[in-house]
Amino acid sequence: AKFATAAAPAPHTNPEILYTGLFINNEWLKSSDGRTFKTENPTNGKVIAEVQQAGKADIDKAVKAAKDAFKLGSPWRTMDASQRGYLINKLADLIERDRAYLASLETLDNGKPYLASYYGDVASVIKNLRYYAGWADKNHGKVLPTDGKYFAYTRHEPVGVCGQIIPWNFPLLMAAWKLGPALAAGNTLVLKPAEQTPLTALYIAQLVKEAGFPAGVVNVVAGFGDAGAAIVDHPDVDKVAFTGSTDVGKLIQRNAAGTVKRITLELGGKSPNVVFADCDLPYAVEQSHMALFYNMGQCCCAGSRTFVEDKIYDKFVEMSAARAARRVVGDPFRPDTEQGPQIDGEQHEKILGLIETGKQQGAKLMTGGARHGKEGYFVQPTVFADVKDDMEIARTEIFGPVQTILKFSQMDELLERANSSEYGLAAAVFTKDIDRANYVIQGLRAGTVWVNDYNVFGNQVPFGGFKQSGIGRENGPYGIKNYTEVKAVVVRVTEKNS
Ligand code: ADP
Repeated sequence: AKFATAAAPAPHTNPEILYTGLFINNEWLKSSDGRTFKTENPTNGKVIAEVQQAGKADIDKAVKAAKDAFKLGSPWRTMDASQRGYLINKLADLIERDRAYLASLETLDNGKPYLASYYGDVASVIKNLRYYAGWADKNHGKVLPTDGKYFAYTRHEPVGVCGQIIPWNFPLLMAAWKLGPALAAGNTLVLKPAEQTPLTALYIAQLVKEAGFPAGVVNVVAGFGDAGAAIVDHPDVDKVAFTGSTDVGKLIQRNAAGTVKRITLELGGKSPNVVFADCDLPYAVEQSHMALFYNMGQCCCAGSRTFVEDKIYDKFVEMSAARAARRVVGDPFRPDTEQGPQIDGEQHEKILGLIETGKQQGAKLMTGGARHGKEGYFVQPTVFADVKDDMEIARTEIFGPVQTILKFSQMDELLERANSSEYGLAAAVFTKDIDRANYVIQGLRAGTVWVNDYNVFGNQVPFGGFKQSGIGRENGPYGIKNYTEVKAVVVRVTEKNS
Protein backbone atom coordinates (compact mmCIF):
# COMPACT_ATOMS: atom_id res chain seq x y z
CA ALA A 1 0.00 0.00 0.00
CA LYS A 2 1.10 3.54 -0.71
CA PHE A 3 0.51 5.81 2.23
CA ALA A 4 -0.40 9.48 2.07
CA THR A 5 2.58 11.40 3.42
CA ALA A 6 1.04 14.82 3.96
CA ALA A 7 -0.74 14.12 7.22
CA ALA A 8 1.86 11.96 9.00
CA PRO A 9 3.89 13.74 11.68
CA ALA A 10 7.63 13.52 11.22
CA PRO A 11 9.15 10.39 12.76
CA HIS A 12 11.35 10.46 15.85
CA THR A 13 14.43 9.11 14.11
CA ASN A 14 16.15 8.56 17.43
CA PRO A 15 13.30 7.66 19.80
CA GLU A 16 14.21 7.51 23.47
CA ILE A 17 14.15 3.99 24.89
CA LEU A 18 12.22 4.24 28.13
CA TYR A 19 11.32 0.67 29.15
CA THR A 20 13.57 -2.35 29.04
CA GLY A 21 12.53 -4.22 32.18
CA LEU A 22 10.17 -7.08 32.93
CA PHE A 23 6.66 -5.72 33.43
CA ILE A 24 5.08 -7.81 36.20
CA ASN A 25 2.29 -6.68 38.54
CA ASN A 26 2.44 -3.16 37.06
CA GLU A 27 6.08 -2.86 38.18
CA TRP A 28 9.34 -2.77 36.22
CA LEU A 29 11.68 -5.51 37.39
CA LYS A 30 15.13 -6.85 36.59
CA SER A 31 15.51 -10.50 35.59
CA SER A 32 15.99 -12.91 38.52
CA ASP A 33 19.33 -14.19 37.27
CA GLY A 34 20.56 -10.83 36.00
CA ARG A 35 20.45 -11.86 32.36
CA THR A 36 19.88 -9.26 29.64
CA PHE A 37 19.93 -9.40 25.85
CA LYS A 38 20.60 -6.86 23.14
CA THR A 39 18.04 -5.74 20.63
CA GLU A 40 19.46 -4.62 17.34
CA ASN A 41 18.58 -2.07 14.68
CA PRO A 42 18.32 -4.19 11.50
CA THR A 43 19.06 -1.18 9.31
CA ASN A 44 22.69 -1.07 10.50
CA GLY A 45 23.16 -4.00 12.88
CA LYS A 46 23.86 -1.67 15.84
CA VAL A 47 22.61 -2.37 19.35
CA ILE A 48 19.63 -0.23 20.35
CA ALA A 49 19.24 -1.32 23.96
CA GLU A 50 19.83 -4.05 26.52
CA VAL A 51 16.63 -5.65 27.65
CA GLN A 52 15.94 -7.73 30.77
CA GLN A 53 15.68 -11.37 29.71
CA ALA A 54 12.97 -13.49 31.29
CA GLY A 55 13.98 -16.96 32.43
CA LYS A 56 11.83 -19.65 34.03
CA ALA A 57 11.84 -17.96 37.46
CA ASP A 58 10.56 -14.74 35.89
CA ILE A 59 7.85 -16.58 34.00
CA ASP A 60 6.80 -18.15 37.32
CA LYS A 61 6.60 -14.65 38.81
CA ALA A 62 4.59 -13.27 35.91
CA VAL A 63 2.18 -16.22 35.93
CA LYS A 64 1.70 -15.86 39.67
CA ALA A 65 0.87 -12.17 39.21
CA ALA A 66 -1.66 -13.04 36.50
CA LYS A 67 -3.13 -15.81 38.63
CA ASP A 68 -3.49 -13.53 41.65
CA ALA A 69 -5.12 -10.85 39.50
CA PHE A 70 -7.63 -13.50 38.39
CA LYS A 71 -8.59 -14.57 41.93
CA LEU A 72 -12.26 -14.47 42.91
CA GLY A 73 -13.07 -11.12 44.45
CA SER A 74 -10.08 -9.36 42.83
CA PRO A 75 -10.52 -5.87 41.36
CA TRP A 76 -10.45 -7.37 37.87
CA ARG A 77 -12.94 -10.18 38.56
CA THR A 78 -15.40 -7.86 40.27
CA MET A 79 -15.15 -5.12 37.65
CA ASP A 80 -18.14 -4.41 35.43
CA ALA A 81 -17.67 -5.74 31.91
CA SER A 82 -18.38 -2.25 30.56
CA GLN A 83 -15.51 -0.91 32.66
CA ARG A 84 -13.16 -3.47 31.10
CA GLY A 85 -14.26 -2.05 27.75
CA TYR A 86 -13.59 1.45 29.03
CA LEU A 87 -10.03 0.52 30.05
CA ILE A 88 -9.31 -1.06 26.66
CA ASN A 89 -10.59 2.11 24.98
CA LYS A 90 -8.38 4.15 27.30
CA LEU A 91 -5.39 2.09 26.21
CA ALA A 92 -6.32 2.79 22.57
CA ASP A 93 -6.48 6.53 23.39
CA LEU A 94 -2.99 6.47 24.91
CA ILE A 95 -1.60 4.62 21.91
CA GLU A 96 -3.21 7.24 19.70
CA ARG A 97 -1.62 10.01 21.79
CA ASP A 98 1.82 8.42 21.34
CA ARG A 99 1.24 7.19 17.81
CA ALA A 100 4.22 8.92 16.12
CA TYR A 101 6.58 7.80 18.90
CA LEU A 102 5.33 4.22 18.82
CA ALA A 103 5.49 4.05 15.02
CA SER A 104 9.07 5.37 15.21
CA LEU A 105 10.07 2.84 17.89
CA GLU A 106 8.59 0.04 15.77
CA THR A 107 10.57 1.21 12.74
CA LEU A 108 13.78 1.41 14.76
CA ASP A 109 13.46 -2.08 16.27
CA ASN A 110 11.88 -3.87 13.31
CA GLY A 111 13.08 -1.96 10.24
CA LYS A 112 9.70 -1.48 8.60
CA PRO A 113 9.09 1.82 6.80
CA TYR A 114 7.86 4.51 9.17
CA LEU A 115 4.82 5.37 7.08
CA ALA A 116 3.76 1.71 7.14
CA SER A 117 4.24 1.68 10.94
CA TYR A 118 2.24 4.86 11.31
CA TYR A 119 -0.60 4.28 8.82
CA GLY A 120 -0.57 0.50 8.82
CA ASP A 121 0.51 -1.06 12.11
CA VAL A 122 -0.30 1.56 14.74
CA ALA A 123 -3.55 2.61 13.06
CA SER A 124 -4.68 -1.03 13.01
CA VAL A 125 -3.68 -1.50 16.65
CA ILE A 126 -5.89 1.39 17.74
CA LYS A 127 -8.86 0.18 15.68
CA ASN A 128 -8.45 -3.40 16.86
CA LEU A 129 -8.44 -2.42 20.53
CA ARG A 130 -11.52 -0.26 20.02
CA TYR A 131 -13.30 -3.10 18.26
CA TYR A 132 -12.68 -5.48 21.17
CA ALA A 133 -13.40 -2.79 23.76
CA GLY A 134 -16.94 -2.86 22.37
CA TRP A 135 -17.12 -6.62 22.89
CA ALA A 136 -16.41 -6.45 26.63
CA ASP A 137 -20.08 -6.20 27.67
CA LYS A 138 -21.54 -8.10 24.72
CA ASN A 139 -20.04 -11.57 25.15
CA HIS A 140 -23.16 -13.02 26.71
CA GLY A 141 -24.62 -16.52 27.16
CA LYS A 142 -28.07 -17.93 26.49
CA VAL A 143 -31.15 -19.18 28.32
CA LEU A 144 -31.85 -22.76 27.22
CA PRO A 145 -35.28 -24.43 26.96
CA THR A 146 -34.16 -27.70 28.55
CA ASP A 147 -36.56 -30.55 29.48
CA GLY A 148 -37.94 -30.80 33.02
CA LYS A 149 -38.41 -28.27 35.79
CA TYR A 150 -35.12 -26.51 35.28
CA PHE A 151 -33.79 -23.10 34.47
CA ALA A 152 -30.74 -23.66 32.27
CA TYR A 153 -28.39 -21.02 31.02
CA THR A 154 -24.82 -20.50 29.87
CA ARG A 155 -22.27 -18.13 31.32
CA HIS A 156 -19.43 -16.91 29.11
CA GLU A 157 -16.53 -16.88 31.52
CA PRO A 158 -12.89 -15.96 30.95
CA VAL A 159 -10.53 -18.90 30.41
CA GLY A 160 -8.15 -17.59 33.08
CA VAL A 161 -4.43 -16.94 32.72
CA CYS A 162 -3.44 -16.65 29.05
CA GLY A 163 0.11 -17.06 27.77
CA GLN A 164 0.62 -15.07 24.61
CA ILE A 165 3.68 -15.60 22.47
CA ILE A 166 4.16 -13.32 19.51
CA PRO A 167 6.56 -12.87 16.57
CA TRP A 168 8.68 -9.99 15.26
CA ASN A 169 7.08 -9.20 11.90
CA PHE A 170 4.20 -7.09 13.29
CA PRO A 171 5.24 -6.66 16.93
CA LEU A 172 2.64 -4.07 17.91
CA LEU A 173 -0.23 -5.43 15.88
CA MET A 174 0.29 -8.99 17.10
CA ALA A 175 0.38 -7.70 20.68
CA ALA A 176 -2.93 -5.90 20.08
CA TRP A 177 -4.56 -8.99 18.54
CA LYS A 178 -3.64 -10.86 21.71
CA LEU A 179 -4.52 -8.16 24.25
CA GLY A 180 -7.91 -6.95 22.97
CA PRO A 181 -9.99 -10.14 22.95
CA ALA A 182 -8.28 -11.60 26.04
CA LEU A 183 -9.00 -8.50 28.13
CA ALA A 184 -12.49 -7.96 26.73
CA ALA A 185 -13.39 -11.47 27.84
CA GLY A 186 -11.97 -10.85 31.33
CA ASN A 187 -8.77 -12.89 31.25
CA THR A 188 -5.38 -12.01 32.71
CA LEU A 189 -2.25 -12.59 30.70
CA VAL A 190 1.47 -12.96 30.28
CA LEU A 191 2.66 -11.66 26.92
CA LYS A 192 6.08 -12.51 25.54
CA PRO A 193 7.25 -10.42 22.60
CA ALA A 194 9.80 -11.84 20.19
CA GLU A 195 13.46 -11.46 21.16
CA GLN A 196 14.16 -9.47 17.96
CA THR A 197 11.53 -6.79 18.70
CA PRO A 198 10.72 -6.34 22.40
CA LEU A 199 10.62 -2.53 22.60
CA THR A 200 7.13 -1.54 21.47
CA ALA A 201 5.36 -4.21 23.55
CA LEU A 202 7.27 -2.98 26.62
CA TYR A 203 6.18 0.59 25.95
CA ILE A 204 2.57 -0.63 25.60
CA ALA A 205 2.94 -2.25 29.03
CA GLN A 206 3.57 1.15 30.59
CA LEU A 207 0.46 2.48 28.81
CA VAL A 208 -1.53 -0.43 30.28
CA LYS A 209 -0.52 0.82 33.72
CA GLU A 210 -1.29 4.42 32.81
CA ALA A 211 -4.74 3.41 31.51
CA GLY A 212 -5.51 2.05 34.97
CA PHE A 213 -5.63 -1.73 34.57
CA PRO A 214 -5.29 -3.42 37.96
CA ALA A 215 -1.84 -4.85 38.75
CA GLY A 216 -1.17 -8.32 37.35
CA VAL A 217 -3.85 -8.26 34.64
CA VAL A 218 -1.27 -7.64 31.92
CA ASN A 219 2.32 -8.80 32.32
CA VAL A 220 4.88 -8.33 29.55
CA VAL A 221 8.16 -10.19 29.68
CA ALA A 222 10.76 -10.21 26.92
CA GLY A 223 12.81 -13.32 26.34
CA PHE A 224 13.71 -16.15 24.02
CA GLY A 225 12.23 -19.54 23.18
CA ASP A 226 13.04 -20.94 26.63
CA ALA A 227 10.81 -18.28 28.20
CA GLY A 228 8.08 -19.15 25.68
CA ALA A 229 8.47 -22.83 26.54
CA ALA A 230 8.20 -22.03 30.28
CA ILE A 231 4.88 -20.31 29.60
CA VAL A 232 3.62 -23.30 27.61
CA ASP A 233 4.69 -25.77 30.32
CA HIS A 234 3.32 -23.79 33.26
CA PRO A 235 0.45 -25.62 35.00
CA ASP A 236 -1.21 -22.33 36.01
CA VAL A 237 -1.46 -21.07 32.44
CA ASP A 238 -4.89 -22.02 31.09
CA LYS A 239 -4.47 -21.07 27.47
CA VAL A 240 -1.69 -20.32 25.02
CA ALA A 241 -2.10 -18.11 21.98
CA PHE A 242 0.86 -18.28 19.64
CA THR A 243 1.77 -16.59 16.38
CA GLY A 244 4.99 -17.72 14.75
CA SER A 245 6.60 -20.48 12.75
CA THR A 246 4.96 -23.83 12.05
CA ASP A 247 7.90 -25.67 13.63
CA VAL A 248 7.52 -23.88 16.96
CA GLY A 249 3.73 -24.19 16.66
CA LYS A 250 4.06 -27.97 16.51
CA LEU A 251 6.29 -27.94 19.57
CA ILE A 252 3.79 -25.81 21.45
CA GLN A 253 0.90 -28.08 20.53
CA ARG A 254 2.88 -31.08 21.77
CA ASN A 255 3.99 -29.40 25.01
CA ALA A 256 0.57 -27.91 25.73
CA ALA A 257 -0.84 -31.44 25.77
CA GLY A 258 0.94 -32.03 29.09
CA THR A 259 -1.57 -29.79 30.86
CA VAL A 260 -4.39 -29.95 28.26
CA LYS A 261 -4.12 -26.26 27.56
CA ARG A 262 -6.39 -24.52 25.15
CA ILE A 263 -4.26 -23.42 22.24
CA THR A 264 -4.66 -21.18 19.27
CA LEU A 265 -1.92 -21.14 16.68
CA GLU A 266 -1.34 -18.81 13.77
CA LEU A 267 1.53 -20.26 11.79
CA GLY A 268 3.24 -20.14 8.42
CA GLY A 269 1.95 -20.06 4.89
CA LYS A 270 2.78 -20.45 1.24
CA SER A 271 -0.26 -18.70 -0.09
CA PRO A 272 -1.35 -19.03 -3.72
CA ASN A 273 -2.25 -15.87 -5.60
CA VAL A 274 -4.07 -16.83 -8.82
CA VAL A 275 -4.13 -14.39 -11.73
CA PHE A 276 -6.41 -15.12 -14.70
CA ALA A 277 -5.91 -13.65 -18.16
CA ASP A 278 -9.11 -11.61 -17.99
CA CYS A 279 -7.85 -9.53 -15.04
CA ASP A 280 -6.96 -5.86 -15.18
CA LEU A 281 -3.30 -6.58 -15.86
CA PRO A 282 -1.47 -3.50 -14.48
CA TYR A 283 -3.67 -3.63 -11.37
CA ALA A 284 -3.07 -7.36 -10.85
CA VAL A 285 0.68 -6.88 -11.29
CA GLU A 286 0.74 -4.15 -8.63
CA GLN A 287 -1.47 -6.08 -6.22
CA SER A 288 0.57 -9.25 -6.66
CA HIS A 289 3.74 -7.23 -6.08
CA MET A 290 2.37 -5.84 -2.81
CA ALA A 291 0.96 -9.26 -1.87
CA LEU A 292 4.51 -10.53 -1.70
CA PHE A 293 6.75 -7.53 -1.01
CA TYR A 294 4.72 -5.79 1.71
CA ASN A 295 6.65 -5.73 5.01
CA MET A 296 9.79 -7.01 3.23
CA GLY A 297 7.97 -10.25 2.44
CA GLN A 298 7.72 -10.97 6.17
CA CYS A 299 3.99 -11.73 6.24
CA CYS A 300 2.64 -15.14 7.13
CA CYS A 301 -0.06 -14.59 4.50
CA ALA A 302 2.33 -13.34 1.78
CA GLY A 303 1.23 -14.24 -1.75
CA SER A 304 4.33 -16.33 -2.19
CA ARG A 305 3.17 -18.53 -5.06
CA THR A 306 1.93 -16.31 -7.88
CA PHE A 307 0.07 -18.56 -10.36
CA VAL A 308 -0.44 -16.77 -13.69
CA GLU A 309 -2.51 -18.00 -16.64
CA ASP A 310 -0.36 -18.94 -19.64
CA LYS A 311 -1.91 -16.39 -22.02
CA ILE A 312 -0.58 -13.42 -20.03
CA TYR A 313 2.37 -15.14 -18.34
CA ASP A 314 5.27 -13.53 -20.22
CA LYS A 315 3.81 -10.05 -20.02
CA PHE A 316 2.99 -10.46 -16.31
CA VAL A 317 6.53 -11.64 -15.54
CA GLU A 318 8.08 -8.76 -17.44
CA MET A 319 5.88 -6.16 -15.71
CA SER A 320 6.42 -7.72 -12.26
CA ALA A 321 10.19 -7.74 -12.68
CA ALA A 322 10.13 -4.10 -13.77
CA ARG A 323 8.00 -3.19 -10.76
CA ALA A 324 10.29 -5.01 -8.34
CA ALA A 325 13.35 -3.37 -9.89
CA ARG A 326 11.72 0.03 -9.22
CA ARG A 327 11.02 -0.81 -5.58
CA VAL A 328 12.70 1.77 -3.33
CA VAL A 329 14.95 0.01 -0.79
CA GLY A 330 16.73 1.84 2.02
CA ASP A 331 16.44 3.84 5.23
CA PRO A 332 12.99 3.03 6.65
CA PHE A 333 12.66 6.50 8.17
CA ARG A 334 12.67 8.13 4.71
CA PRO A 335 9.14 8.80 3.43
CA ASP A 336 9.76 7.40 -0.06
CA THR A 337 11.23 4.09 1.17
CA GLU A 338 9.11 1.07 0.28
CA GLN A 339 11.39 -1.62 1.67
CA GLY A 340 13.59 -1.66 4.76
CA PRO A 341 15.88 -4.42 6.01
CA GLN A 342 14.95 -8.00 6.92
CA ILE A 343 14.68 -8.54 10.65
CA ASP A 344 18.10 -10.05 11.41
CA GLY A 345 21.19 -11.79 10.15
CA GLU A 346 19.66 -15.24 10.49
CA GLN A 347 16.67 -14.42 8.29
CA HIS A 348 18.92 -12.54 5.86
CA GLU A 349 21.12 -15.58 5.39
CA LYS A 350 18.19 -17.95 5.11
CA ILE A 351 16.60 -15.85 2.37
CA LEU A 352 19.85 -15.53 0.41
CA GLY A 353 20.30 -19.31 0.73
CA LEU A 354 16.83 -19.96 -0.67
CA ILE A 355 17.52 -17.56 -3.55
CA GLU A 356 20.59 -19.71 -4.35
CA THR A 357 18.47 -22.88 -4.45
CA GLY A 358 16.13 -21.10 -6.88
CA LYS A 359 19.04 -20.34 -9.19
CA GLN A 360 20.48 -23.86 -8.87
CA GLN A 361 17.17 -25.63 -9.48
CA GLY A 362 16.63 -23.77 -12.74
CA ALA A 363 14.18 -20.99 -11.92
CA LYS A 364 14.75 -17.93 -14.09
CA LEU A 365 16.05 -14.97 -12.08
CA MET A 366 14.40 -11.86 -13.55
CA THR A 367 15.70 -9.24 -11.11
CA GLY A 368 17.47 -8.97 -7.76
CA GLY A 369 18.96 -12.13 -6.30
CA ALA A 370 21.51 -10.74 -3.84
CA ARG A 371 21.95 -8.61 -0.76
CA HIS A 372 21.35 -4.88 -1.07
CA GLY A 373 24.03 -2.48 0.15
CA LYS A 374 26.82 -3.21 2.61
CA GLU A 375 25.24 -2.44 5.95
CA GLY A 376 22.23 -3.99 7.67
CA TYR A 377 20.08 -6.87 6.49
CA PHE A 378 18.74 -5.68 3.16
CA VAL A 379 17.82 -8.00 0.29
CA GLN A 380 17.24 -6.86 -3.29
CA PRO A 381 13.64 -7.22 -4.44
CA THR A 382 13.84 -10.53 -6.28
CA VAL A 383 11.59 -12.10 -8.93
CA PHE A 384 11.86 -15.66 -10.22
CA ALA A 385 9.96 -16.87 -13.29
CA ASP A 386 9.54 -20.39 -14.67
CA VAL A 387 9.16 -21.69 -11.14
CA LYS A 388 8.06 -25.32 -10.89
CA ASP A 389 5.90 -26.72 -8.11
CA ASP A 390 8.58 -28.99 -6.68
CA MET A 391 11.35 -26.39 -6.44
CA GLU A 392 12.48 -25.44 -2.95
CA ILE A 393 11.42 -21.78 -3.49
CA ALA A 394 7.87 -22.92 -4.34
CA ARG A 395 7.54 -25.12 -1.25
CA THR A 396 9.40 -23.46 1.62
CA GLU A 397 8.18 -20.30 3.29
CA ILE A 398 10.88 -17.77 2.34
CA PHE A 399 9.63 -14.85 4.47
CA GLY A 400 11.57 -12.43 2.31
CA PRO A 401 11.28 -10.20 -0.77
CA VAL A 402 11.31 -13.05 -3.29
CA GLN A 403 8.39 -13.39 -5.71
CA THR A 404 8.02 -16.76 -7.41
CA ILE A 405 5.83 -16.80 -10.53
CA LEU A 406 4.38 -20.09 -11.76
CA LYS A 407 2.41 -20.74 -14.96
CA PHE A 408 -0.94 -22.52 -15.27
CA SER A 409 -3.28 -23.30 -18.12
CA GLN A 410 -6.07 -25.46 -16.74
CA MET A 411 -8.52 -24.76 -13.96
CA ASP A 412 -8.73 -28.23 -12.36
CA GLU A 413 -4.97 -28.69 -12.47
CA LEU A 414 -4.59 -25.21 -10.95
CA LEU A 415 -6.65 -25.97 -7.85
CA GLU A 416 -4.78 -29.18 -7.23
CA ARG A 417 -1.45 -27.40 -7.50
CA ALA A 418 -2.53 -24.42 -5.40
CA ASN A 419 -3.74 -26.77 -2.68
CA SER A 420 -0.70 -29.05 -2.74
CA SER A 421 0.97 -27.40 0.24
CA GLU A 422 0.96 -28.31 3.91
CA TYR A 423 -0.12 -24.72 4.53
CA GLY A 424 -3.55 -23.14 4.08
CA LEU A 425 -3.46 -19.62 5.44
CA ALA A 426 -4.57 -17.29 2.65
CA ALA A 427 -5.15 -17.12 -1.09
CA ALA A 428 -6.30 -14.67 -3.73
CA VAL A 429 -7.81 -14.72 -7.18
CA PHE A 430 -7.76 -11.98 -9.81
CA THR A 431 -10.46 -12.26 -12.49
CA LYS A 432 -13.52 -10.43 -13.78
CA ASP A 433 -15.47 -13.68 -14.21
CA ILE A 434 -17.67 -14.20 -11.15
CA ASP A 435 -18.24 -17.90 -11.85
CA ARG A 436 -14.56 -18.56 -12.12
CA ALA A 437 -13.88 -16.59 -8.94
CA ASN A 438 -16.58 -18.55 -7.15
CA TYR A 439 -15.14 -21.88 -8.29
CA VAL A 440 -11.72 -20.92 -6.97
CA ILE A 441 -13.13 -19.49 -3.70
CA GLN A 442 -14.81 -22.80 -2.96
CA GLY A 443 -11.94 -24.97 -4.14
CA LEU A 444 -9.04 -23.37 -2.30
CA ARG A 445 -8.23 -24.77 1.14
CA ALA A 446 -7.33 -21.54 2.93
CA GLY A 447 -8.56 -19.50 5.88
CA THR A 448 -8.93 -16.35 3.79
CA VAL A 449 -9.58 -15.88 0.08
CA TRP A 450 -9.26 -12.37 -1.32
CA VAL A 451 -10.89 -11.59 -4.65
CA ASN A 452 -9.31 -8.85 -6.78
CA ASP A 453 -7.30 -7.60 -3.83
CA TYR A 454 -4.74 -8.78 -1.27
CA ASN A 455 -3.82 -8.23 2.38
CA VAL A 456 -7.18 -6.74 3.26
CA PHE A 457 -7.77 -7.07 6.99
CA GLY A 458 -10.74 -6.11 9.09
CA ASN A 459 -11.18 -6.38 12.83
CA GLN A 460 -14.62 -7.83 12.12
CA VAL A 461 -13.23 -10.49 9.76
CA PRO A 462 -11.68 -13.72 11.09
CA PHE A 463 -8.09 -14.58 10.22
CA GLY A 464 -6.40 -17.94 10.65
CA GLY A 465 -5.32 -21.07 8.89
CA PHE A 466 -6.52 -24.32 7.41
CA LYS A 467 -4.17 -27.32 7.63
CA GLN A 468 -0.71 -26.67 9.12
CA SER A 469 -1.22 -22.90 9.06
CA GLY A 470 -2.87 -23.04 12.43
CA ILE A 471 -5.75 -23.67 14.78
CA GLY A 472 -8.47 -21.14 15.56
CA ARG A 473 -9.27 -17.68 14.26
CA GLU A 474 -8.36 -14.20 15.44
CA ASN A 475 -10.49 -11.08 14.96
CA GLY A 476 -14.26 -10.75 14.92
CA PRO A 477 -16.59 -12.72 17.16
CA TYR A 478 -14.55 -15.86 16.38
CA GLY A 479 -11.58 -14.20 18.08
CA ILE A 480 -13.34 -13.72 21.38
CA LYS A 481 -14.46 -17.35 21.47
CA ASN A 482 -10.85 -18.42 21.99
CA TYR A 483 -10.80 -16.52 25.27
CA THR A 484 -14.14 -17.72 26.57
CA GLU A 485 -15.08 -20.80 28.58
CA VAL A 486 -18.74 -21.74 28.38
CA LYS A 487 -20.27 -22.81 31.66
CA ALA A 488 -23.65 -24.54 31.63
CA VAL A 489 -25.79 -23.83 34.70
CA VAL A 490 -28.89 -25.91 35.47
CA VAL A 491 -31.07 -24.71 38.35
CA ARG A 492 -33.96 -26.78 39.70
CA VAL A 493 -37.19 -24.76 39.86
CA THR A 494 -40.47 -25.73 41.46
CA GLU A 495 -42.79 -24.48 38.74
CA LYS A 496 -42.38 -24.45 35.02
CA ASN A 497 -44.64 -22.86 32.46
CA SER A 498 -43.95 -22.29 28.78
P1 ADP B 1 10.18 -16.85 13.68
O1 ADP B 1 10.66 -18.00 12.87
O2 ADP B 1 9.19 -15.98 12.98
O3 ADP B 1 11.23 -16.12 14.46
P2 ADP B 1 9.40 -18.36 15.95
O4 ADP B 1 8.28 -19.31 15.85
O5 ADP B 1 10.78 -18.87 16.09
O6 ADP B 1 9.22 -17.43 14.72
O7 ADP B 1 9.16 -17.32 17.13
C1 ADP B 1 7.91 -16.79 17.45
C2 ADP B 1 7.84 -16.63 18.95
O8 ADP B 1 7.93 -17.91 19.57
C3 ADP B 1 8.95 -15.79 19.56
O9 ADP B 1 8.39 -15.01 20.59
C4 ADP B 1 9.90 -16.84 20.11
O10 ADP B 1 10.69 -16.38 21.18
C5 ADP B 1 8.93 -17.90 20.59
N1 ADP B 1 9.49 -19.26 20.71
C6 ADP B 1 10.56 -19.80 20.09
N2 ADP B 1 10.73 -21.08 20.46
C7 ADP B 1 9.75 -21.38 21.35
C8 ADP B 1 9.38 -22.56 22.10
N3 ADP B 1 10.06 -23.69 22.00
N4 ADP B 1 8.29 -22.49 22.91
C9 ADP B 1 7.57 -21.34 22.99
N5 ADP B 1 7.88 -20.22 22.34
C10 ADP B 1 8.95 -20.22 21.51
